[in-house]
Amino acid sequence: MSLDENRVYATDAEKLTVAAEEARRGASEGGIPIGAALFDGEGRLLGSGHNRRVQDGDPSMHAETAAFRNAGRRPTYRDTIMVTTLSPCWYCSGLVRQFNIGQVVIGEARTFHGGHDWLAEHGVAVTVLDDAECVSMMTEFIAAEPRLWFEDIGESQ
Ligand SMILES: [Zn+2]
Repeated sequence: MSLDENRVYATDAEKLTVAAEEARRGASEGGIPIGAALFDGEGRLLGSGHNRRVQDGDPSMHAETAAFRNAGRRPTYRDTIMVTTLSPCWYCSGLVRQFNIGQVVIGEARTFHGGHDWLAEHGVAVTVLDDAECVSMMTEFIAAEPRLWFEDIGESQ
């Protein structure tokens, strides 16, 4: 994604479009359609990424982790906003806590319920948008690739 450092993504819905575009890119690459993006407190995009388990053969390259790594170093993450198309797994929820990311915006938590309740209990501002496109992307993916999905969430069938 081209990074326009001056653009301000004012609303949660605008921020989610960046994550959703990453998810679609992942799907087009034959990967798992989960995308994420990290924004600063003003709504400027710091970095974005998508799940790359298939593309890189790397089970730890989740969308939120990819976005975080693409954003590069910052002295503090307290004012940043992690936007993800799907409820973050324990691994990515751990990343949010480890780096004290202050806010998480989630596209949907119907197809997978990760660690976002835990994050909220620990003071992270959590918003679940229940976005229809995010739900349909995951529903279609899980129906088409159940083995890949259960591999990604660490559950054997
Ligand atoms: Zn994850």
